[in-house]
Amino acid sequence: MAHDHHDHDDVHDHGHGHEYGYGHGHGHDHAQDPPSDMALRVKALESLLVEKGIVEAAALDAVVDHFEHKVGPRNGARVVARAWSDPAYRERLLADATAAIAELGFTGGQGEHMVAVENTPTVRNLVVCTLCSCYPWPVLGLPPVWYKSAPYRSRAVIDSRGVLAEFGEAPDPDVEVRVWDSTAEVRYLVIPQRPPATEGLGEDELAALVTRDGMIGTAAL
Ligand code: FE
Repeated sequence: MAHDHHDHDDVHDHGHGHEYGYGHGHGHDHAQDPPSDMALRVKALESLLVEKGIVEAAALDAVVDHFEHKVGPRNGARVVARAWSDPAYRERLLADATAAIAELGFTGGQGEHMVAVENTPTVRNLVVCTLCSCYPWPVLGLPPVWYKSAPYRSRAVIDSRGVLAEFGEAPDPDVEVRVWDSTAEVRYLVIPQRPPATEGLGEDELAALVTRDGMIGTAAL
């Protein structure tokens, strides 16, 4: 199997092309794929726990939100801020992202083979997993729902500028858009361009400017 997949929960058809009919001209409607067996089991378990009064739905949502928005992407933001601040670190990051990211203590499953790609005034990078939802967990946490959706996965490749426009971030026509297809083997981290007039900022302040979507590439920063 060309795309030797790991054990995550998406059970899906790995045939190419079946998803290309989706989503033309339109935003990120979720729920195009039928839920996987694992998703259904999780949902059933969650419903039961809530029904029995063992957990509150809001508490579960808060846990997911925490990993999707806070814990995970803040790690990646620290990597980006270090690269912006320290030219030698940036070189190491571009040469061997796995090792450079590990210097900051971010290691683990779904991040064993990292590649960092850098936005420049002439190049904009965009990350996708066309086959499912491969994502660099140690630096970005859990993938957002839209990242796993069939429309994003297909259109990021065939209409990357259209996708970026829908995210409100259409690059100038002379900017090259490079799309990186994640696999079980390789996960990507986009290094956004450092914003102007940030020379005086320390790493913590710089990290606060970096968003999850900036490190996937759907946002500029
Ligand atoms: Fe995948």
